[in-house]
Amino acid sequence: MSMSGAQVPGDMLQCQVLRCQRRATRSFVVEDEIWGLAEVAVCKHHGAVLDSGYSYSYNHEDNVIYMGRDLRSPEPGGSGA
Ligand SMILES: [Zn+2]
Repeated sequence: MSMSGAQVPGDMLQCQVLRCQRRATRSFVVEDEIWGLAEVAVCKHHGAVLDSGYSYSYNHEDNVIYMGRDLRSPEPGGSGA
């Protein structure tokens, strides 16, 4: 029986906002028209931003929050505006 192997940090949650690499320090409840309520883990910074009423979108499949310009996905075939 070997005791070697990688240690997985069990209680180190990462912020679930897209591309955010910070450690989550709190939770935030997101509301989705289709899926209803879900609880996500966010860092201090994004928690404050979400509390302030900033618009966001929660993707249940990827378990990630989109904010800011990530909310607007590029339209296929869009030819500038
Ligand atoms: Zn964050």
